[in-house]
Amino acid sequence: MEQTLTLSTLLYSIGKLFGTIGFISLTFLIFSGDTARFWNKYIGLDKIIKFQRKFSYFVAFFVIFHPIFFILSSGSAKKFLIPNFTYTTLAAGIMALYIFVGVLIASALYKRISYTVWQYIHILTYVLFFFALYHGYSGGTADEYNPIYTIAFLLIIIGILYRTMYKLKAKKTSKFYIKSLTQKTHDTFTLTVKGSKDFIAGQFCFLRLNKNKLYARHPFTISSAPGEDLSFTIKLAGRFTQIAKDLKDGDEIFIDGPFGNFIPKPEKDLVFIAGGVGITPFMSILKDHVNKNIDQNITLIYGSRTENDIIFKKEFDTINTPWFKKLYLLSLVESDAVLSPNCEKGFINKDVLERYVKNTKGSLYYICGPEIMKDNAKKLLKANGVPSAQVYVEDFFW
Ligand SMILES: Cc1cc2nc3c(=O)[nH]c(=O)nc-3n(C[C@H](O)[C@H](O)[C@H](O)COP(=O)(O)OP(=O)(O)OC[C@H]3O[C@@H](n4cnc5c(N)ncnc54)[C@H](O)[C@@H]3O)c2cc1C
Repeated sequence: MEQTLTLSTLLYSIGKLFGTIGFISLTFLIFSGDTARFWNKYIGLDKIIKFQRKFSYFVAFFVIFHPIFFILSSGSAKKFLIPNFTYTTLAAGIMALYIFVGVLIASALYKRISYTVWQYIHILTYVLFFFALYHGYSGGTADEYNPIYTIAFLLIIIGILYRTMYKLKAKKTSKFYIKSLTQKTHDTFTLTVKGSKDFIAGQFCFLRLNKNKLYARHPFTISSAPGEDLSFTIKLAGRFTQIAKDLKDGDEIFIDGPFGNFIPKPEKDLVFIAGGVGITPFMSILKDHVNKNIDQNITLIYGSRTENDIIFKKEFDTINTPWFKKLYLLSLVESDAVLSPNCEKGFINKDVLERYVKNTKGSLYYICGPEIMKDNAKKLLKANGVPSAQVYVEDFFW
């Protein structure tokens, strides 16, 4: 009897602890999402989004196990799963749990939900927060004052204000019209809009069409240089990119950004390692360096399948400055094929690095391309003694 009581108390205490951790982490998840655009310049919005996706599993773990421990402790599921509004504290907690599960499911189906519906769902996260706040404040703390709830309340209010102000401002600055679409290779094209934004070469924006049931925002790196009309060079991947390819001059497009901090440092020699459409940030950076006459050594090592797959070959071949060197690595060519200047068969390896990068350990490396290429390049640099602090990687697939 005594043992059952002890186990029950223990399970109850764990349940309470899970509830507190769940509430604190939920607050942090909502706050970091609402203010993500503010932290962009310090951390990079892409990194925040990736962190949030992983962190939401952590939050879900604590939120979902919070009532499970109470059920195990009391032996009754009904009390903790069916809201009884006579006991508002507990009912609010149960309602918060159900909304949380609903929002989780909606997030997983994000791409299939209309943007407007998604916005309403987002509002539900605040409803969920306030239910959880009430539940925790009136149920969890008894009569002691607990600053956690005041801090959480203030953070969410700051988050809501920041998000609302950002949205109002973005409404005025996000609408653009297509200026041109140019085929670059058999599966890539460049979309240019009329007008520009203030951005730093290497950054990306979110594009949204809001038509053909395509409501999700899709990230694309700006491939034009600062001061030019905004261009995005896009590889056909799925529904969004297929429909974007058929846009016509004058069509409407919404552009949110710029974001990200895949921005080269102004010191040291730079080595750009690109694969496929991962060339886009480097195109923008190179054009910017040419336009501003920046005298910083840049070596571009660019992997493609064949010569016809090299995006921007013409543009790179016309950069004739002593600070720029390039190598096109081709993976799908016959060994006896006659290749154009600056082309070699193969993948990036130690030999390529030694031949093309003079100051291997002293250079800064920027990598953007398919997963396999990124992993190989990172391993190669590590094996050649390049400190990881000198290696920057941009992910195109979240
Ligand atoms: C920071 C960043 C910069 C990028 N820059 C470029 C670029 O310059 N040029 C280019 O061609 N591609 C770029 N991409 C990739 C591009 O976003 C996807 O290829 C595109 O969204 C695919 O959409 P889809 O509907 O055509 O294909 P889908 O079939 O829906 O998606 C193909 C893959 O793209 C990724 N993806 C799809 N939707 C999204 C989304 N809403 N957010 C994030 N990833 C998504 C997923 O990994 C998915 O598996 C970039 C991605 C990121 C994260």
